[in-house]
Amino acid sequence: MIDLNLIRESRERIGDIVKRTPIMTSETISNDTGNELFFKCEHLQKTGAFKIRGASNKVIHEAQKNTDHVIAASSGNHGQAVAYIANQLGISSTIVVPEDAVACKKDAIRAYNGNLEFCGTTSEERIERAKQISQDGKAVFIPPYDDPFIMAGQGTAGLEILEQVNDIDEVYVPIGGGGLISGVATAIKETNPRIRVIGVEPAIANDTYVSLKEGKRINKGASTTIADGLRTSIPGELTFPIIQRYVDDIVLVDEESIKQSFSYVLTRMKQLIEPSGAVSVAGALKRKPEGKRIVALISGGNIDGDAIPKLLI
Ligand SMILES: *Cc1c(COP(=O)(O)O)cnc(C)c1O
Repeated sequence: MIDLNLIRESRERIGDIVKRTPIMTSETISNDTGNELFFKCEHLQKTGAFKIRGASNKVIHEAQKNTDHVIAASSGNHGQAVAYIANQLGISSTIVVPEDAVACKKDAIRAYNGNLEFCGTTSEERIERAKQISQDGKAVFIPPYDDPFIMAGQGTAGLEILEQVNDIDEVYVPIGGGGLISGVATAIKETNPRIRVIGVEPAIANDTYVSLKEGKRINKGASTTIADGLRTSIPGELTFPIIQRYVDDIVLVDEESIKQSFSYVLTRMKQLIEPSGAVSVAGALKRKPEGKRIVALISGGNIDGDAIPKLLI
């Protein structure tokens, strides 16, 4: 399993690749909500999302074992990150994407010399296909979330949050397969257990919420949420126990509130983020604590230009 030390080691490994992303504040949003809000800006991360943290941690580790081809299954951001780091290290990458992947994410993968392979719409279908190709072609499979190197790499965002904001009460993190929150929660809870870690899921992609209630991993099937990074059907085998242990609460947000938060961040903060990135903000606005110092992790900013009008409220 992962721990604080593994996350610190990961930071050493990926330090030359990833950015230490800024924290932003908005007086308007803070005043509106009666809290002090801080935004961890992973939409300004290299490749436009936090995924490069875990992907570079894993791919650098594999490249040190002389791997020359990696393969990933991804709705986009993980694939983009794997293609980017593979290109940097001079090794080849194949990325299996859903048939309905957004254009900007596909273009970015191509720009990083990644080979695109199309398959189905659910993460299970893609992972299956990627594993199959990896067996046929001896490429190493880079999982999107369910892997200690990936989880620990994502956790480096948590270390930065702890250094950048003091006296934090709550941290809001979106949940897809749970790689991000398991890393971030480990970094935070093993440093300061008093900080509350709150997961946020779209109400129509609530697999982690339901799984926590039932005490076991539940497969909810494919979701159509506009937060395309959070459509995972089931929490990971490795991520779920960490979520059970370290996540204090889960907030569910509806599609309309994701759009509202997207618009809010765009108009108040002048930041263009993707719907998955707006989910943590929607969670903080919905749960409505009072007089707290809150960090919302904005997870990514990859969005097609023509998707913007549909999100504006
Ligand atoms: C992948 C992704 C998530 C979810 O991360 P998990 O590690 O799968 O929980 C959230 N936001 C964005 C922008 C993503 O790309």
